[in-house]
Amino acid sequence: MKTFQNLIEEVQTPGLCHHCGGCVTFCTAINYGALALDEKGIPHFSDRAKCIECGLCYSICPEIDELREETDKVAGWVPPMGRILETTVARAKDPVIRNQATDGGVVTALLIHLFDRGHIDGAIVTRQTGPFQRAPWLATTRQEIFDAAGFYLDSSAGMHHFGHDYSTYSPSVQEFRPMLQKGLRRVAMVGTPCQIKAVRKMEALGIVPSDSIRYTLGLFCSGNFHFGEDQRRELEQMGRFAWEDVRKVNLKDELILVLNTGERRTLPLEKLAAFKRYACHYCSDYAAEYADISFGGIGADEGWTTVVTRTPFGRAILADARGQNVEITDPKQKPDLPKHLQDVIKAASERKKQYAQKMHDALVASGGKPAA
Ligand SMILES: Cc1cc2nc3c(=O)[nH]c(=O)nc-3n(C[C@H](O)[C@H](O)[C@H](O)COP(=O)(O)OP(=O)(O)OC[C@H]3O[C@@H](n4cnc5c(N)ncnc54)[C@H](O)[C@@H]3O)c2cc1C
Ligand code: SF4
Ligand code: SF4
Ligand code: SF4
Repeated sequence: MKTFQNLIEEVQTPGLCHHCGGCVTFCTAINYGALALDEKGIPHFSDRAKCIECGLCYSICPEIDELREETDKVAGWVPPMGRILETTVARAKDPVIRNQATDGGVVTALLIHLFDRGHIDGAIVTRQTGPFQRAPWLATTRQEIFDAAGFYLDSSAGMHHFGHDYSTYSPSVQEFRPMLQKGLRRVAMVGTPCQIKAVRKMEALGIVPSDSIRYTLGLFCSGNFHFGEDQRRELEQMGRFAWEDVRKVNLKDELILVLNTGERRTLPLEKLAAFKRYACHYCSDYAAEYADISFGGIGADEGWTTVVTRTPFGRAILADARGQNVEITDPKQKPDLPKHLQDVIKAASERKKQYAQKMHDALVASGGKPAA
Protein backbone atom coordinates (compact mmCIF):
# COMPACT_ATOMS: atom_id res chain seq x y z
CA MET A 1 0.00 0.00 0.00
CA LYS A 2 1.42 3.36 -0.96
CA THR A 3 1.31 6.08 1.70
CA PHE A 4 2.34 9.67 2.24
CA GLN A 5 5.97 8.54 2.06
CA ASN A 6 5.32 7.72 -1.60
CA LEU A 7 3.78 11.16 -2.11
CA ILE A 8 7.02 12.62 -0.80
CA GLU A 9 9.02 10.56 -3.28
CA GLU A 10 6.76 10.75 -6.33
CA VAL A 11 5.16 14.19 -5.97
CA GLN A 12 7.03 16.42 -3.57
CA THR A 13 10.62 15.56 -4.44
CA PRO A 14 10.20 16.09 -8.21
CA GLY A 15 8.47 19.41 -7.41
CA LEU A 16 5.00 18.38 -8.58
CA CYS A 17 3.08 19.16 -5.36
CA HIS A 18 0.91 22.24 -5.83
CA HIS A 19 -0.04 22.45 -2.16
CA CYS A 20 -3.75 21.81 -2.62
CA GLY A 21 -3.81 20.39 0.91
CA GLY A 22 -5.95 17.40 -0.09
CA CYS A 23 -3.73 14.79 1.58
CA VAL A 24 -3.60 16.65 4.89
CA THR A 25 -7.29 17.51 4.80
CA PHE A 26 -8.28 13.90 4.41
CA CYS A 27 -5.85 12.52 7.00
CA THR A 28 -7.07 15.13 9.50
CA ALA A 29 -10.77 14.79 8.65
CA ILE A 30 -10.65 11.09 9.35
CA ASN A 31 -8.75 11.81 12.58
CA TYR A 32 -5.60 9.91 11.70
CA GLY A 33 -3.61 13.04 12.44
CA ALA A 34 -0.38 11.92 10.81
CA LEU A 35 -0.02 14.91 8.49
CA ALA A 36 0.12 18.69 8.80
CA LEU A 37 0.93 21.69 6.65
CA ASP A 38 3.95 23.79 7.50
CA GLU A 39 3.82 27.59 7.49
CA LYS A 40 4.43 27.60 3.71
CA GLY A 41 1.49 25.25 3.10
CA ILE A 42 3.71 22.25 2.37
CA PRO A 43 2.38 18.92 3.66
CA HIS A 44 4.64 16.82 5.90
CA PHE A 45 4.47 14.03 8.46
CA SER A 46 3.65 15.68 11.79
CA ASP A 47 3.46 12.33 13.58
CA ARG A 48 4.56 9.42 11.45
CA ALA A 49 3.57 6.93 14.15
CA LYS A 50 -0.08 7.85 13.62
CA CYS A 51 0.00 6.81 9.96
CA ILE A 52 -2.05 3.62 9.64
CA GLU A 53 -0.94 3.24 6.02
CA CYS A 54 -4.48 3.45 4.66
CA GLY A 55 -3.02 4.79 1.41
CA LEU A 56 -5.90 7.18 0.80
CA CYS A 57 -3.81 10.37 0.83
CA TYR A 58 -1.83 8.83 -2.02
CA SER A 59 -4.90 7.83 -4.03
CA ILE A 60 -6.63 11.22 -3.81
CA CYS A 61 -3.61 13.33 -4.72
CA PRO A 62 -4.45 14.97 -8.07
CA GLU A 63 -0.88 14.38 -9.23
CA ILE A 64 -1.24 10.61 -8.93
CA ASP A 65 -2.71 8.88 -11.92
CA GLU A 66 -4.72 6.42 -9.85
CA LEU A 67 -8.51 6.06 -9.80
CA ARG A 68 -8.65 7.47 -13.30
CA GLU A 69 -11.55 5.30 -14.38
CA GLU A 70 -13.54 5.83 -11.17
CA THR A 71 -12.96 9.60 -11.21
CA ASP A 72 -13.95 9.85 -14.86
CA LYS A 73 -17.13 7.99 -14.06
CA VAL A 74 -18.09 10.27 -11.17
CA ALA A 75 -17.72 13.37 -13.35
CA GLY A 76 -18.89 11.74 -16.58
CA TRP A 77 -15.56 12.75 -18.14
CA VAL A 78 -15.09 12.10 -21.85
CA PRO A 79 -12.19 13.05 -24.14
CA PRO A 80 -10.84 15.42 -25.27
CA MET A 81 -11.74 17.96 -22.56
CA GLY A 82 -14.43 16.52 -20.32
CA ARG A 83 -18.16 16.25 -20.73
CA ILE A 84 -19.86 19.29 -22.23
CA LEU A 85 -23.64 19.66 -22.08
CA GLU A 86 -23.83 23.34 -23.00
CA THR A 87 -21.46 26.21 -23.71
CA THR A 88 -22.49 29.82 -23.53
CA VAL A 89 -21.57 33.26 -22.25
CA ALA A 90 -23.37 34.84 -19.33
CA ARG A 91 -23.12 37.59 -16.75
CA ALA A 92 -24.53 38.49 -13.36
CA LYS A 93 -27.73 40.49 -13.55
CA ASP A 94 -26.62 42.64 -10.64
CA PRO A 95 -24.28 45.40 -11.91
CA VAL A 96 -22.69 45.68 -8.44
CA ILE A 97 -21.51 42.06 -8.72
CA ARG A 98 -20.31 42.66 -12.29
CA ASN A 99 -18.31 45.66 -11.18
CA GLN A 100 -16.53 43.67 -8.48
CA ALA A 101 -16.10 40.45 -10.48
CA THR A 102 -13.26 39.14 -12.63
CA ASP A 103 -15.28 38.72 -15.82
CA GLY A 104 -19.10 38.65 -15.87
CA GLY A 105 -19.54 37.74 -12.19
CA VAL A 106 -21.41 34.53 -13.01
CA VAL A 107 -19.58 32.50 -10.36
CA THR A 108 -20.58 34.93 -7.63
CA ALA A 109 -24.13 35.34 -8.95
CA LEU A 110 -24.64 31.56 -9.00
CA LEU A 111 -23.28 31.14 -5.48
CA ILE A 112 -25.55 33.91 -4.22
CA HIS A 113 -28.47 32.31 -6.04
CA LEU A 114 -27.79 28.92 -4.44
CA PHE A 115 -27.40 30.54 -1.03
CA ASP A 116 -30.58 32.65 -1.28
CA ARG A 117 -32.60 29.64 -2.40
CA GLY A 118 -31.36 27.62 0.58
CA HIS A 119 -29.51 25.07 -1.57
CA ILE A 120 -26.17 25.65 0.16
CA ASP A 121 -25.07 26.63 3.67
CA GLY A 122 -21.80 28.07 2.47
CA ALA A 123 -19.21 28.22 -0.28
CA ILE A 124 -15.48 27.65 -0.40
CA VAL A 125 -14.15 30.71 -2.19
CA THR A 126 -11.01 32.80 -2.09
CA ARG A 127 -10.82 36.23 -0.54
CA GLN A 128 -8.43 39.10 -0.37
CA THR A 129 -6.47 38.95 2.89
CA GLY A 130 -3.96 41.68 2.19
CA PRO A 131 -3.10 44.07 -0.60
CA PHE A 132 -1.63 41.32 -2.74
CA GLN A 133 -2.63 38.21 -0.88
CA ARG A 134 -5.55 35.88 -1.30
CA ALA A 135 -6.51 32.95 0.89
CA PRO A 136 -9.15 30.24 0.74
CA TRP A 137 -12.25 31.06 2.70
CA LEU A 138 -15.41 29.32 3.82
CA ALA A 139 -18.07 31.96 3.17
CA THR A 140 -21.25 31.40 5.15
CA THR A 141 -23.14 34.62 4.46
CA ARG A 142 -24.35 36.33 1.30
CA GLN A 143 -22.02 39.27 1.99
CA GLU A 144 -19.01 36.99 2.40
CA ILE A 145 -19.73 35.32 -0.94
CA PHE A 146 -19.99 38.75 -2.55
CA ASP A 147 -16.78 39.99 -0.92
CA ALA A 148 -14.84 37.10 -2.49
CA ALA A 149 -15.76 38.04 -6.07
CA GLY A 150 -13.02 38.95 -8.46
CA PHE A 151 -9.28 38.65 -8.91
CA TYR A 152 -8.45 42.06 -7.50
CA LEU A 153 -5.44 43.81 -6.16
CA ASP A 154 -6.00 46.48 -3.57
CA SER A 155 -5.02 49.80 -5.10
CA SER A 156 -4.75 51.55 -1.74
CA ALA A 157 -1.08 50.65 -1.42
CA GLY A 158 1.62 49.71 -3.84
CA MET A 159 3.15 46.31 -4.07
CA HIS A 160 6.54 47.68 -3.17
CA HIS A 161 5.39 48.44 0.36
CA PHE A 162 4.96 44.80 1.14
CA GLY A 163 7.72 42.34 1.83
CA HIS A 164 5.68 39.22 1.21
CA ASP A 165 5.33 37.50 -2.12
CA TYR A 166 2.22 37.58 -4.24
CA SER A 167 0.80 34.30 -5.43
CA THR A 168 -2.33 33.82 -7.50
CA TYR A 169 -2.76 30.33 -6.00
CA SER A 170 -5.15 29.69 -3.16
CA PRO A 171 -5.20 26.20 -1.58
CA SER A 172 -9.00 25.94 -1.36
CA VAL A 173 -9.16 22.26 -0.41
CA GLN A 174 -7.76 23.29 2.96
CA GLU A 175 -11.11 24.89 3.81
CA PHE A 176 -12.68 21.45 4.19
CA ARG A 177 -11.54 21.34 7.78
CA PRO A 178 -13.45 24.46 8.97
CA MET A 179 -16.41 23.19 6.93
CA LEU A 180 -16.44 19.97 8.95
CA GLN A 181 -15.85 21.78 12.23
CA LYS A 182 -18.89 23.96 11.56
CA GLY A 183 -20.90 20.88 10.62
CA LEU A 184 -21.84 22.25 7.18
CA ARG A 185 -23.28 19.55 4.94
CA ARG A 186 -24.15 21.48 1.77
CA VAL A 187 -21.31 23.51 0.39
CA ALA A 188 -20.35 24.73 -3.08
CA MET A 189 -16.67 24.81 -3.93
CA VAL A 190 -14.94 27.18 -6.32
CA GLY A 191 -11.53 25.98 -7.37
CA THR A 192 -8.88 25.52 -9.99
CA PRO A 193 -8.99 22.30 -12.06
CA CYS A 194 -6.52 20.48 -9.79
CA GLN A 195 -8.60 21.26 -6.71
CA ILE A 196 -11.80 20.12 -8.38
CA LYS A 197 -10.05 16.89 -9.37
CA ALA A 198 -8.99 16.23 -5.76
CA VAL A 199 -12.65 16.53 -4.72
CA ARG A 200 -13.77 14.16 -7.48
CA LYS A 201 -11.16 11.62 -6.43
CA MET A 202 -12.47 11.74 -2.87
CA GLU A 203 -15.97 11.32 -4.28
CA ALA A 204 -14.87 8.33 -6.32
CA LEU A 205 -13.63 6.72 -3.12
CA GLY A 206 -16.75 7.79 -1.22
CA ILE A 207 -14.67 9.39 1.54
CA VAL A 208 -15.28 12.43 3.73
CA PRO A 209 -15.58 15.30 3.35
CA SER A 210 -16.52 15.12 -0.33
CA ASP A 211 -20.11 14.17 0.56
CA SER A 212 -20.61 17.73 1.82
CA ILE A 213 -19.50 19.32 -1.46
CA ARG A 214 -22.74 19.64 -3.40
CA TYR A 215 -21.54 21.73 -6.34
CA THR A 216 -18.12 22.09 -7.91
CA LEU A 217 -17.52 25.33 -9.81
CA GLY A 218 -14.22 25.12 -11.70
CA LEU A 219 -12.15 27.99 -13.08
CA PHE A 220 -10.26 27.69 -16.35
CA CYS A 221 -6.57 27.74 -15.51
CA SER A 222 -3.50 28.40 -17.57
CA GLY A 223 -1.39 28.33 -14.43
CA ASN A 224 -0.80 30.04 -11.14
CA PHE A 225 1.92 32.60 -10.72
CA HIS A 226 4.16 33.60 -7.91
CA PHE A 227 5.75 37.02 -7.81
CA GLY A 228 8.48 37.88 -5.36
CA GLU A 229 9.85 41.41 -5.15
CA ASP A 230 12.33 41.01 -8.01
CA GLN A 231 9.75 39.48 -10.32
CA ARG A 232 7.29 42.27 -9.50
CA ARG A 233 9.84 44.84 -10.54
CA GLU A 234 10.58 42.90 -13.71
CA LEU A 235 6.87 42.78 -14.53
CA GLU A 236 6.51 46.53 -14.06
CA GLN A 237 9.26 47.10 -16.61
CA MET A 238 7.89 44.55 -19.02
CA GLY A 239 4.36 45.95 -18.89
CA ARG A 240 5.24 49.65 -18.42
CA PHE A 241 3.14 50.19 -15.30
CA ALA A 242 3.53 50.72 -11.55
CA TRP A 243 1.87 48.31 -9.17
CA GLU A 244 0.38 51.15 -7.14
CA ASP A 245 -1.64 52.10 -10.23
CA VAL A 246 -3.12 48.64 -10.76
CA ARG A 247 -6.82 48.25 -9.97
CA LYS A 248 -7.63 44.84 -11.33
CA VAL A 249 -5.85 41.71 -12.54
CA ASN A 250 -7.24 39.02 -14.82
CA LEU A 251 -5.83 35.95 -16.51
CA LYS A 252 -7.17 34.89 -19.88
CA ASP A 253 -4.88 34.02 -22.79
CA GLU A 254 -2.66 36.78 -21.39
CA LEU A 255 -2.20 38.56 -18.06
CA ILE A 256 -4.40 41.65 -18.06
CA LEU A 257 -3.80 44.56 -15.73
CA VAL A 258 -6.41 47.31 -15.54
CA LEU A 259 -5.00 50.55 -14.17
CA ASN A 260 -6.82 53.09 -12.00
CA THR A 261 -7.00 55.35 -15.06
CA GLY A 262 -8.93 52.62 -16.90
CA GLU A 263 -5.95 51.88 -19.22
CA ARG A 264 -5.09 48.24 -19.80
CA ARG A 265 -1.70 46.56 -19.92
CA THR A 266 -1.34 43.03 -21.22
CA LEU A 267 1.52 40.57 -20.90
CA PRO A 268 1.70 37.37 -22.95
CA LEU A 269 1.71 34.28 -20.75
CA GLU A 270 4.85 32.95 -22.49
CA LYS A 271 6.76 35.88 -21.00
CA LEU A 272 5.58 34.87 -17.55
CA ALA A 273 6.63 31.23 -17.80
CA ALA A 274 9.48 31.79 -15.35
CA PHE A 275 7.01 33.03 -12.70
CA LYS A 276 4.68 30.08 -13.05
CA ARG A 277 4.45 27.74 -10.08
CA TYR A 278 6.65 24.79 -10.84
CA ALA A 279 3.92 22.12 -10.57
CA CYS A 280 1.71 24.04 -13.01
CA HIS A 281 4.15 23.32 -15.84
CA TYR A 282 3.11 19.67 -15.61
CA CYS A 283 -0.64 20.19 -15.43
CA SER A 284 -2.82 19.22 -18.37
CA ASP A 285 -6.29 20.42 -17.30
CA TYR A 286 -7.18 23.86 -18.62
CA ALA A 287 -10.96 23.87 -18.65
CA ALA A 288 -11.75 22.35 -15.20
CA GLU A 289 -12.79 19.15 -16.91
CA TYR A 290 -14.17 17.50 -13.76
CA ALA A 291 -16.38 20.33 -12.50
CA ASP A 292 -20.18 20.63 -12.56
CA ILE A 293 -19.72 23.94 -14.37
CA SER A 294 -16.50 25.56 -15.60
CA PHE A 295 -15.92 29.31 -16.03
CA GLY A 296 -13.39 31.43 -17.84
CA GLY A 297 -12.90 34.65 -19.69
CA ILE A 298 -11.54 33.41 -23.02
CA GLY A 299 -13.94 33.50 -25.92
CA ALA A 300 -16.27 35.97 -24.19
CA ASP A 301 -16.52 39.73 -24.65
CA GLU A 302 -15.24 41.98 -21.87
CA GLY A 303 -17.62 41.84 -18.89
CA TRP A 304 -18.98 38.39 -19.72
CA THR A 305 -18.03 34.92 -18.50
CA THR A 306 -17.67 31.84 -20.70
CA VAL A 307 -19.68 29.06 -19.06
CA VAL A 308 -19.32 25.33 -19.77
CA THR A 309 -22.06 23.23 -18.22
CA ARG A 310 -20.82 19.70 -17.67
CA THR A 311 -23.20 17.76 -15.42
CA PRO A 312 -26.99 17.64 -15.00
CA PHE A 313 -26.43 19.25 -11.57
CA GLY A 314 -24.60 22.14 -13.22
CA ARG A 315 -27.26 22.50 -15.87
CA ALA A 316 -29.99 22.58 -13.23
CA ILE A 317 -28.45 25.41 -11.20
CA LEU A 318 -27.75 27.50 -14.28
CA ALA A 319 -31.32 26.99 -15.51
CA ASP A 320 -32.66 27.89 -12.07
CA ALA A 321 -30.61 31.11 -11.89
CA ARG A 322 -31.41 32.15 -15.48
CA GLY A 323 -33.33 35.39 -15.57
CA GLN A 324 -33.16 35.81 -11.79
CA ASN A 325 -29.50 36.28 -10.96
CA VAL A 326 -27.83 35.39 -14.23
CA GLU A 327 -28.32 36.74 -17.74
CA ILE A 328 -27.53 34.09 -20.34
CA THR A 329 -26.99 34.77 -24.04
CA ASP A 330 -29.92 33.40 -25.99
CA PRO A 331 -28.56 30.67 -28.35
CA LYS A 332 -31.24 31.60 -30.89
CA GLN A 333 -29.69 35.03 -31.24
CA LYS A 334 -26.15 33.71 -31.56
CA PRO A 335 -26.38 30.16 -32.98
CA ASP A 336 -22.64 30.05 -33.80
CA LEU A 337 -21.59 30.95 -30.26
CA PRO A 338 -21.31 27.46 -28.68
CA LYS A 339 -19.09 26.21 -31.51
CA HIS A 340 -16.93 29.33 -31.41
CA LEU A 341 -16.47 28.95 -27.63
CA GLN A 342 -15.71 25.25 -27.84
CA ASP A 343 -13.11 25.87 -30.55
CA VAL A 344 -11.37 28.50 -28.43
CA ILE A 345 -11.43 26.35 -25.28
CA LYS A 346 -10.30 23.25 -27.19
CA ALA A 347 -7.32 25.09 -28.67
CA ALA A 348 -6.25 26.37 -25.22
CA SER A 349 -6.77 22.91 -23.70
CA GLU A 350 -4.72 21.21 -26.40
CA ARG A 351 -1.88 23.71 -25.98
CA LYS A 352 -1.80 23.05 -22.25
CA LYS A 353 -1.91 19.26 -22.66
CA GLN A 354 0.87 19.26 -25.24
CA TYR A 355 3.08 21.48 -23.11
CA ALA A 356 2.47 19.35 -19.99
CA GLN A 357 3.32 16.20 -21.93
CA LYS A 358 6.56 17.76 -23.16
CA MET A 359 7.49 18.74 -19.61
CA HIS A 360 6.64 15.27 -18.26
CA ASP A 361 8.76 13.64 -20.95
CA ALA A 362 11.67 15.90 -20.04
CA LEU A 363 11.24 15.08 -16.35
CA VAL A 364 11.30 11.37 -17.05
CA ALA A 365 14.36 11.81 -19.30
CA SER A 366 16.16 13.65 -16.49
CA GLY A 367 15.53 10.77 -14.09
CA GLY A 368 12.71 12.57 -12.25
CA LYS A 369 14.82 15.50 -11.13
CA PRO A 370 13.06 18.89 -11.36
CA ALA A 371 14.67 21.54 -13.54
CA ALA A 372 16.89 23.91 -11.58
C1 LIG B 1 -5.26 31.21 -11.10
C2 LIG B 1 -6.33 31.44 -12.12
C3 LIG B 1 -6.02 31.28 -13.45
C4 LIG B 1 -7.00 31.50 -14.43
N1 LIG B 1 -6.67 31.33 -15.74
C5 LIG B 1 -7.61 31.55 -16.68
C6 LIG B 1 -7.28 31.42 -18.05
O1 LIG B 1 -6.15 31.09 -18.41
N2 LIG B 1 -8.25 31.64 -18.97
C7 LIG B 1 -9.51 32.00 -18.60
O2 LIG B 1 -10.34 32.19 -19.51
N3 LIG B 1 -9.87 32.13 -17.31
C8 LIG B 1 -8.95 31.91 -16.35
N4 LIG B 1 -9.29 32.03 -15.03
C9 LIG B 1 -10.71 32.24 -14.67
C10 LIG B 1 -11.12 33.72 -14.66
O3 LIG B 1 -10.11 34.50 -14.08
C11 LIG B 1 -12.41 33.91 -13.84
O4 LIG B 1 -12.25 33.40 -12.55
C12 LIG B 1 -13.62 33.26 -14.45
O5 LIG B 1 -13.82 33.74 -15.75
C13 LIG B 1 -14.89 33.55 -13.64
O6 LIG B 1 -15.18 34.92 -13.73
P1 LIG B 1 -16.44 35.52 -12.95
O7 LIG B 1 -16.43 37.00 -13.13
O8 LIG B 1 -17.68 34.78 -13.35
O9 LIG B 1 -16.08 35.14 -11.44
P2 LIG B 1 -16.28 35.98 -10.10
O10 LIG B 1 -17.73 36.25 -9.90
O11 LIG B 1 -15.32 37.11 -10.07
O12 LIG B 1 -15.86 34.89 -9.04
C14 LIG B 1 -14.57 34.36 -9.04
C15 LIG B 1 -14.54 33.32 -7.95
O13 LIG B 1 -13.26 32.68 -8.00
C16 LIG B 1 -12.70 32.67 -6.70
N5 LIG B 1 -11.23 32.75 -6.86
C17 LIG B 1 -10.50 33.82 -7.19
N6 LIG B 1 -9.19 33.51 -7.24
C18 LIG B 1 -9.11 32.20 -6.94
C19 LIG B 1 -8.03 31.29 -6.81
N7 LIG B 1 -6.77 31.66 -7.01
N8 LIG B 1 -8.30 30.00 -6.51
C20 LIG B 1 -9.59 29.58 -6.29
N9 LIG B 1 -10.67 30.42 -6.39
C21 LIG B 1 -10.42 31.70 -6.70
C22 LIG B 1 -13.29 33.90 -6.01
O14 LIG B 1 -13.30 33.75 -4.62
C23 LIG B 1 -14.72 33.91 -6.57
O15 LIG B 1 -15.59 33.08 -5.82
C24 LIG B 1 -8.32 31.86 -14.04
C25 LIG B 1 -8.63 32.00 -12.67
C26 LIG B 1 -7.66 31.79 -11.73
C27 LIG B 1 -8.01 31.95 -10.27
S1 SF4 C 1 -2.93 7.56 7.72
FE1 SF4 C 1 -3.54 7.27 5.56
S2 SF4 C 1 -4.06 9.35 4.92
FE2 SF4 C 1 -2.82 9.59 6.78
S3 SF4 C 1 -0.65 9.75 6.11
FE3 SF4 C 1 -1.03 7.60 6.51
S4 SF4 C 1 -1.59 6.76 4.51
FE4 SF4 C 1 -1.89 8.97 4.38
S1 SF4 D 1 -2.66 16.01 -2.32
FE1 SF4 D 1 -2.13 18.12 -2.92
S2 SF4 D 1 -0.86 18.88 -1.20
FE2 SF4 D 1 -0.92 16.63 -1.03
S3 SF4 D 1 0.92 15.93 -2.15
FE3 SF4 D 1 -0.81 15.91 -3.61
S4 SF4 D 1 -0.69 17.91 -4.64
FE4 SF4 D 1 0.56 18.04 -2.77
S1 SF4 E 1 -2.14 24.94 -13.72
FE1 SF4 E 1 -2.99 23.02 -12.95
S2 SF4 E 1 -1.81 22.60 -11.07
FE2 SF4 E 1 -1.56 24.78 -11.56
S3 SF4 E 1 -3.19 25.78 -10.38
FE3 SF4 E 1 -3.95 25.44 -12.47
S4 SF4 E 1 -5.06 23.51 -12.32
FE4 SF4 E 1 -3.74 23.62 -10.52
